[in-house]
Amino acid sequence: MNPVPPVNQAVANLRVLLIEDQRAMAENIWEFLEMQGQVMDHAADGQAGLALALENAYDMIVLDLGLPRLDGVEVCRRFRAQNKTTPILMLTARERLEDKLLGFEAGADDYLTKPFELRELAARIQVLHRRHQRLFPSIVQVGSLILDLIQRAATRDGQALSLSPSGFRLLEALMRRSPNVLLYADLAQALWGDAEHDPARLHTHISLLRTSVDRDHEQPMIQTVHGFGYRLVPPAAA
Ligand code: CA
Repeated sequence: MNPVPPVNQAVANLRVLLIEDQRAMAENIWEFLEMQGQVMDHAADGQAGLALALENAYDMIVLDLGLPRLDGVEVCRRFRAQNKTTPILMLTARERLEDKLLGFEAGADDYLTKPFELRELAARIQVLHRRHQRLFPSIVQVGSLILDLIQRAATRDGQALSLSPSGFRLLEALMRRSPNVLLYADLAQALWGDAEHDPARLHTHISLLRTSVDRDHEQPMIQTVHGFGYRLVPPAAA
């Protein structure tokens, strides 16, 4: 018996958001992926889909290009503008190369042209998911500080930290760059998706984060780099 699972073993329990306006198509995809063990969510127009995508954490977004209320390309563009890395698989009824290029430009990772086999969709989801996990591991660790991006939870020395959604985004940005400095503009980008920033508001967010991360510890991890920004460093070994 080999205790190591095969590399190509299918991953189940992925949270998949399907944004597709054609009801029959949506039902088919939903049923097929659900049968494969994925946890499905659905929106029938672009605006509702974008709202769901921004509100919840998904492992995968399957996005139709031709959608009412907000075009798929625009959904993709606005989602990526918020620094979201969730893989996006586009569905397009259009064979034109220009449409596909437009989708990639907007931040899609892969596409399928309708009509397609559901098995191919499932296979592409698996490939995209694995690639994304290699690029963006779901656990980020600096010293004894651990951030679980799937559970949206953080611990330091095994103690759970209480974080607001902004605090979580800020901490993730600091941890990913650790021990390097994050400039004010980078922090603003992580918080508000925009490099424009208000130093006072930024400072408030950092103070709150410091309370959660450093309050009960002798060695603070969040350091101020005057005139530039902040950085997060692992405490020196005692
Ligand atoms: Ca459509």
